[in-house]
Amino acid sequence: LRYTKLGSTDFLVSRLSFGTLTIGPLQKNYSLEFGAGLLRTAYEMGVNFFDTAELYETYKYIKSAFPNHCNVIVTGRSYAYDTETAQSSLKTFLKETGRERADIFMLHEQESEYTLKGHYEAIEFLLKQKNKGLIGALGISTHYIRAVEAAMMYPEIEVIHPIINFKGLGIADGTRDEMLAAIKKAYDAGKGIYGMKSIGGGNLLNEKERALSYILGLNCLHSVAVGMQSIDEITYNTQLFSMHEPAAALSERLKSQKRSIKTDETCILCGKCEIRCPQKAIKIIEKQVCIDESKCVYCGYCGTVCDAFAIRIF
Ligand code: SF4
Ligand code: SF4
Repeated sequence: LRYTKLGSTDFLVSRLSFGTLTIGPLQKNYSLEFGAGLLRTAYEMGVNFFDTAELYETYKYIKSAFPNHCNVIVTGRSYAYDTETAQSSLKTFLKETGRERADIFMLHEQESEYTLKGHYEAIEFLLKQKNKGLIGALGISTHYIRAVEAAMMYPEIEVIHPIINFKGLGIADGTRDEMLAAIKKAYDAGKGIYGMKSIGGGNLLNEKERALSYILGLNCLHSVAVGMQSIDEITYNTQLFSMHEPAAALSERLKSQKRSIKTDETCILCGKCEIRCPQKAIKIIEKQVCIDESKCVYCGYCGTVCDAFAIRIF
Protein backbone atom coordinates (compact mmCIF):
# COMPACT_ATOMS: atom_id res chain seq x y z
CA LEU A 1 0.00 0.00 0.00
CA ARG A 2 1.04 3.59 -0.52
CA TYR A 3 1.32 5.89 2.50
CA THR A 4 0.82 9.64 2.50
CA LYS A 5 1.26 12.38 5.05
CA LEU A 6 -2.24 13.42 6.08
CA GLY A 7 -2.18 17.13 5.22
CA SER A 8 -0.41 19.21 7.83
CA THR A 9 -0.67 16.49 10.51
CA ASP A 10 2.24 14.22 11.42
CA PHE A 11 0.36 11.07 10.41
CA LEU A 12 1.59 8.89 7.59
CA VAL A 13 -1.60 7.06 6.57
CA SER A 14 -2.28 4.22 4.18
CA ARG A 15 -4.19 5.25 1.07
CA LEU A 16 -6.82 2.68 2.07
CA SER A 17 -8.47 3.28 5.41
CA PHE A 18 -10.71 0.71 7.11
CA GLY A 19 -14.22 2.11 7.66
CA THR A 20 -15.47 0.14 10.66
CA LEU A 21 -19.20 0.92 10.32
CA THR A 22 -19.65 -2.31 8.34
CA ILE A 23 -18.44 -4.68 11.05
CA GLY A 24 -20.37 -3.11 13.94
CA PRO A 25 -23.92 -3.45 15.31
CA LEU A 26 -25.43 -1.05 12.74
CA GLN A 27 -24.50 -3.36 9.89
CA LYS A 28 -22.92 -6.84 10.08
CA ASN A 29 -22.82 -6.94 13.87
CA TYR A 30 -19.81 -9.24 13.92
CA SER A 31 -18.58 -10.86 17.10
CA LEU A 32 -15.71 -9.07 18.78
CA GLU A 33 -13.36 -11.86 17.82
CA PHE A 34 -14.34 -11.94 14.13
CA GLY A 35 -14.51 -8.16 13.68
CA ALA A 36 -11.17 -7.61 15.42
CA GLY A 37 -9.70 -10.42 13.31
CA LEU A 38 -10.66 -8.54 10.14
CA LEU A 39 -9.02 -5.35 11.41
CA ARG A 40 -5.91 -7.32 12.24
CA THR A 41 -5.88 -8.93 8.78
CA ALA A 42 -6.13 -5.50 7.15
CA TYR A 43 -3.26 -4.29 9.31
CA GLU A 44 -1.14 -7.25 8.28
CA MET A 45 -1.88 -6.34 4.64
CA GLY A 46 -0.62 -2.79 5.20
CA VAL A 47 -3.67 -0.78 6.33
CA ASN A 48 -2.64 1.47 9.23
CA PHE A 49 -5.60 3.90 9.28
CA PHE A 50 -8.89 2.94 10.99
CA ASP A 51 -12.03 5.06 11.00
CA THR A 52 -14.47 4.61 13.89
CA ALA A 53 -17.28 6.59 15.51
CA GLU A 54 -19.15 6.58 18.78
CA LEU A 55 -22.38 6.11 16.81
CA TYR A 56 -21.02 2.97 15.14
CA GLU A 57 -20.17 1.34 18.49
CA THR A 58 -16.96 -0.01 16.96
CA TYR A 59 -14.37 1.24 19.45
CA LYS A 60 -14.33 -2.17 21.12
CA TYR A 61 -13.04 -3.88 17.96
CA ILE A 62 -10.03 -1.55 17.98
CA LYS A 63 -9.24 -2.44 21.58
CA SER A 64 -9.47 -6.12 20.83
CA ALA A 65 -7.43 -5.93 17.60
CA PHE A 66 -4.62 -3.61 18.61
CA PRO A 67 -2.64 -3.23 21.83
CA ASN A 68 -2.14 0.43 22.75
CA HIS A 69 1.46 0.47 21.52
CA CYS A 70 0.45 -0.87 18.11
CA ASN A 71 1.40 1.56 15.38
CA VAL A 72 -2.04 2.32 13.93
CA ILE A 73 -3.84 5.63 13.43
CA VAL A 74 -7.38 5.61 14.80
CA THR A 75 -10.08 8.21 14.23
CA GLY A 76 -12.89 8.70 16.74
CA ARG A 77 -16.03 10.69 16.02
CA SER A 78 -18.87 12.16 18.04
CA TYR A 79 -21.83 14.52 17.96
CA ALA A 80 -20.44 16.54 20.89
CA TYR A 81 -21.47 20.20 20.89
CA ASP A 82 -20.32 21.53 24.27
CA THR A 83 -17.71 20.89 26.96
CA GLU A 84 -19.70 18.25 28.78
CA THR A 85 -20.61 16.19 25.71
CA ALA A 86 -17.08 16.50 24.28
CA GLN A 87 -15.55 15.40 27.59
CA SER A 88 -17.85 12.43 27.78
CA SER A 89 -17.20 11.42 24.14
CA LEU A 90 -13.43 11.62 24.46
CA LYS A 91 -13.56 9.64 27.70
CA THR A 92 -15.68 6.97 25.97
CA PHE A 93 -13.21 6.78 23.08
CA LEU A 94 -10.17 6.39 25.34
CA LYS A 95 -11.85 3.85 27.58
CA GLU A 96 -13.46 1.72 24.86
CA THR A 97 -10.49 1.68 22.47
CA GLY A 98 -7.99 1.24 25.32
CA ARG A 99 -5.76 3.86 23.72
CA GLU A 100 -3.84 6.63 25.43
CA ARG A 101 -4.92 9.24 22.91
CA ALA A 102 -7.31 9.77 20.03
CA ASP A 103 -5.03 10.16 17.02
CA ILE A 104 -7.75 12.11 15.23
CA PHE A 105 -10.96 13.19 16.91
CA MET A 106 -13.77 14.47 14.72
CA LEU A 107 -17.14 16.15 14.95
CA HIS A 108 -19.63 13.96 13.14
CA GLU A 109 -21.91 15.17 10.31
CA GLN A 110 -21.11 18.87 10.22
CA GLU A 111 -23.27 20.83 7.78
CA SER A 112 -22.07 24.42 7.48
CA GLU A 113 -20.34 27.37 9.12
CA TYR A 114 -23.37 27.56 11.42
CA THR A 115 -23.09 24.01 12.78
CA LEU A 116 -19.37 24.60 13.31
CA LYS A 117 -20.13 27.76 15.27
CA GLY A 118 -22.79 25.89 17.21
CA HIS A 119 -20.26 23.19 18.14
CA TYR A 120 -17.44 25.58 18.94
CA GLU A 121 -17.54 25.00 22.67
CA ALA A 122 -16.78 21.32 21.98
CA ILE A 123 -13.96 22.31 19.61
CA GLU A 124 -12.42 24.56 22.28
CA PHE A 125 -12.53 21.74 24.82
CA LEU A 126 -11.01 19.27 22.35
CA LEU A 127 -8.24 21.74 21.48
CA LYS A 128 -7.29 21.93 25.15
CA GLN A 129 -7.12 18.12 25.21
CA LYS A 130 -4.95 18.24 22.10
CA ASN A 131 -2.54 20.55 23.93
CA LYS A 132 -2.42 17.98 26.75
CA GLY A 133 -1.53 15.25 24.25
CA LEU A 134 -4.83 13.36 24.49
CA ILE A 135 -5.72 14.12 20.86
CA GLY A 136 -3.38 14.21 17.85
CA ALA A 137 -5.52 16.27 15.45
CA LEU A 138 -9.07 17.61 15.19
CA GLY A 139 -11.39 17.09 12.27
CA ILE A 140 -14.92 16.97 10.92
CA SER A 141 -16.91 14.53 8.82
CA THR A 142 -19.54 15.80 6.43
CA HIS A 143 -21.92 15.21 3.54
CA TYR A 144 -22.02 19.00 2.86
CA ILE A 145 -19.92 21.12 0.51
CA ARG A 146 -20.60 24.10 2.77
CA ALA A 147 -18.99 22.35 5.72
CA VAL A 148 -15.84 21.56 3.70
CA GLU A 149 -15.64 25.24 2.75
CA ALA A 150 -16.35 26.36 6.32
CA ALA A 151 -13.64 24.10 7.75
CA MET A 152 -11.08 26.01 5.69
CA MET A 153 -11.75 29.05 7.87
CA TYR A 154 -10.66 27.13 10.99
CA PRO A 155 -6.91 26.35 11.17
CA GLU A 156 -7.62 24.18 14.23
CA ILE A 157 -9.60 21.76 12.02
CA GLU A 158 -6.80 19.81 10.40
CA VAL A 159 -8.66 16.86 8.92
CA ILE A 160 -11.82 16.65 6.78
CA HIS A 161 -13.70 13.44 6.02
CA PRO A 162 -16.06 14.34 3.16
CA ILE A 163 -18.40 12.20 1.09
CA ILE A 164 -17.29 11.75 -2.52
CA ASN A 165 -18.13 9.19 -5.19
CA PHE A 166 -18.40 9.21 -8.96
CA LYS A 167 -22.18 9.64 -9.00
CA GLY A 168 -22.26 12.27 -6.26
CA LEU A 169 -24.61 10.07 -4.19
CA GLY A 170 -25.28 11.44 -0.73
CA ILE A 171 -23.83 14.92 -1.28
CA ALA A 172 -26.45 16.98 0.49
CA ASP A 173 -26.07 20.44 -1.03
CA GLY A 174 -24.70 20.23 -4.55
CA THR A 175 -23.07 18.21 -7.27
CA ARG A 176 -20.11 15.88 -7.29
CA ASP A 177 -17.98 18.44 -9.12
CA GLU A 178 -18.88 21.21 -6.68
CA MET A 179 -17.86 18.93 -3.81
CA LEU A 180 -14.67 18.04 -5.61
CA ALA A 181 -13.81 21.71 -6.12
CA ALA A 182 -14.26 22.35 -2.37
CA ILE A 183 -12.17 19.28 -1.50
CA LYS A 184 -9.38 20.41 -3.83
CA LYS A 185 -9.29 23.84 -2.22
CA ALA A 186 -9.13 22.30 1.25
CA TYR A 187 -6.41 19.87 0.13
CA ASP A 188 -4.36 22.73 -1.33
CA ALA A 189 -4.85 24.64 1.93
CA GLY A 190 -3.08 21.80 3.77
CA LYS A 191 -6.07 19.98 5.25
CA GLY A 192 -5.77 16.23 5.63
CA ILE A 193 -8.55 14.72 3.50
CA TYR A 194 -9.87 11.20 3.57
CA GLY A 195 -12.98 10.41 1.58
CA MET A 196 -16.02 8.39 2.56
CA LYS A 197 -18.82 6.54 0.74
CA SER A 198 -16.78 5.98 -2.40
CA ILE A 199 -19.18 3.11 -3.21
CA GLY A 200 -22.21 5.26 -2.33
CA GLY A 201 -23.07 3.45 0.90
CA GLY A 202 -23.16 0.18 -1.09
CA ASN A 203 -25.53 1.58 -3.72
CA LEU A 204 -22.74 1.50 -6.33
CA LEU A 205 -21.63 -2.07 -5.61
CA ASN A 206 -22.69 -3.12 -9.09
CA GLU A 207 -20.27 -0.54 -10.46
CA LYS A 208 -17.62 -1.08 -7.84
CA GLU A 209 -14.65 -1.15 -10.24
CA ARG A 210 -15.73 2.14 -11.77
CA ALA A 211 -16.40 3.67 -8.35
CA LEU A 212 -13.01 2.70 -6.96
CA SER A 213 -11.13 3.63 -10.09
CA TYR A 214 -12.74 7.10 -9.94
CA ILE A 215 -11.70 7.58 -6.33
CA LEU A 216 -8.19 6.27 -6.94
CA GLY A 217 -7.79 8.73 -9.78
CA LEU A 218 -8.38 11.73 -7.50
CA ASN A 219 -5.18 13.42 -6.38
CA CYS A 220 -6.85 15.50 -3.68
CA LEU A 221 -7.50 12.65 -1.21
CA HIS A 222 -4.81 11.41 1.14
CA SER A 223 -6.82 8.33 1.99
CA VAL A 224 -10.23 6.74 1.42
CA ALA A 225 -12.26 4.94 4.09
CA VAL A 226 -13.87 1.79 2.75
CA GLY A 227 -16.13 -0.50 4.76
CA MET A 228 -14.96 -4.10 4.51
CA GLN A 229 -16.65 -7.23 5.81
CA SER A 230 -14.54 -10.19 4.69
CA ILE A 231 -10.95 -11.23 4.08
CA ASP A 232 -11.76 -11.37 0.36
CA GLU A 233 -12.87 -7.73 0.40
CA ILE A 234 -9.77 -6.66 2.31
CA THR A 235 -7.53 -8.56 -0.12
CA TYR A 236 -9.34 -7.09 -3.15
CA ASN A 237 -9.17 -3.52 -1.88
CA THR A 238 -5.55 -3.67 -0.72
CA GLN A 239 -4.58 -5.04 -4.14
CA LEU A 240 -6.56 -2.37 -5.96
CA PHE A 241 -5.20 0.43 -3.78
CA SER A 242 -1.67 -0.92 -4.40
CA MET A 243 -2.40 -0.53 -8.13
CA HIS A 244 -2.46 -4.28 -8.72
CA GLU A 245 -5.20 -5.94 -10.70
CA PRO A 246 -7.13 -8.22 -8.29
CA ALA A 247 -7.33 -11.85 -9.45
CA ALA A 248 -10.42 -12.64 -11.54
CA ALA A 249 -11.40 -15.48 -9.20
CA LEU A 250 -11.37 -13.08 -6.24
CA SER A 251 -13.59 -10.58 -8.08
CA GLU A 252 -16.02 -13.37 -8.95
CA ARG A 253 -16.15 -14.58 -5.34
CA LEU A 254 -16.92 -11.06 -4.17
CA LYS A 255 -19.84 -10.78 -6.58
CA SER A 256 -21.47 -13.74 -4.88
CA GLN A 257 -20.78 -12.45 -1.35
CA LYS A 258 -23.99 -12.33 0.70
CA ARG A 259 -25.41 -8.79 0.89
CA SER A 260 -27.97 -7.06 3.09
CA ILE A 261 -29.96 -3.88 2.61
CA LYS A 262 -31.56 -1.52 5.08
CA THR A 263 -32.83 2.01 5.45
CA ASP A 264 -31.88 4.34 8.26
CA GLU A 265 -33.64 6.97 10.33
CA THR A 266 -33.09 9.72 7.74
CA CYS A 267 -35.81 8.19 5.51
CA ILE A 268 -38.56 10.72 4.77
CA LEU A 269 -41.00 8.13 3.39
CA CYS A 270 -41.14 9.81 -0.01
CA GLY A 271 -41.83 6.50 -1.78
CA LYS A 272 -39.37 7.08 -4.64
CA CYS A 273 -37.52 3.84 -3.90
CA GLU A 274 -40.75 1.84 -4.19
CA ILE A 275 -41.42 3.30 -7.64
CA ARG A 276 -37.81 2.79 -8.80
CA CYS A 277 -37.28 -0.80 -7.69
CA PRO A 278 -37.45 -3.01 -10.80
CA GLN A 279 -37.88 -6.13 -8.64
CA LYS A 280 -40.85 -4.74 -6.70
CA ALA A 281 -38.91 -5.60 -3.56
CA ILE A 282 -39.75 -2.36 -1.70
CA LYS A 283 -43.10 -1.35 -0.30
CA ILE A 284 -44.06 1.37 2.12
CA ILE A 285 -46.41 -0.21 4.61
CA GLU A 286 -47.79 1.63 7.61
CA LYS A 287 -45.20 4.42 7.43
CA GLN A 288 -42.29 1.98 7.16
CA VAL A 289 -40.05 1.02 4.27
CA CYS A 290 -40.27 -2.76 3.99
CA ILE A 291 -37.72 -4.54 1.79
CA ASP A 292 -38.33 -8.11 0.75
CA GLU A 293 -34.79 -9.45 0.51
CA SER A 294 -35.96 -12.61 -1.25
CA LYS A 295 -36.78 -10.37 -4.24
CA CYS A 296 -33.91 -7.85 -3.88
CA VAL A 297 -30.96 -8.26 -6.27
CA TYR A 298 -28.93 -5.51 -4.53
CA CYS A 299 -28.72 -3.45 -7.71
CA GLY A 300 -28.66 -0.16 -5.80
CA TYR A 301 -31.19 1.56 -8.10
CA CYS A 302 -33.31 2.54 -5.10
CA GLY A 303 -30.33 4.32 -3.56
CA THR A 304 -29.85 6.47 -6.66
CA VAL A 305 -33.30 8.08 -6.24
CA CYS A 306 -33.22 8.46 -2.46
CA ASP A 307 -32.64 12.16 -1.80
CA ALA A 308 -32.29 11.42 1.93
CA PHE A 309 -29.40 8.95 1.25
CA ALA A 310 -31.15 6.58 3.63
CA ILE A 311 -30.45 3.24 1.93
CA ARG A 312 -27.40 1.13 2.70
CA ILE A 313 -26.29 -2.07 1.00
CA PHE A 314 -23.53 -3.95 2.73
S1 SF4 B 1 -36.42 6.88 -1.35
FE1 SF4 B 1 -35.25 7.08 0.57
S2 SF4 B 1 -36.38 8.60 1.75
FE2 SF4 B 1 -37.75 7.92 0.12
S3 SF4 B 1 -38.93 6.26 1.06
FE3 SF4 B 1 -37.18 5.31 0.05
S4 SF4 B 1 -35.62 5.15 1.66
FE4 SF4 B 1 -37.15 6.60 2.37
S1 SF4 C 1 -31.33 -2.85 -4.37
FE1 SF4 C 1 -32.43 -3.02 -6.34
S2 SF4 C 1 -33.74 -4.80 -6.10
FE2 SF4 C 1 -33.06 -4.25 -4.04
S3 SF4 C 1 -34.68 -2.95 -3.25
FE3 SF4 C 1 -33.15 -1.58 -4.20
S4 SF4 C 1 -33.87 -1.30 -6.32
FE4 SF4 C 1 -34.95 -3.06 -5.46
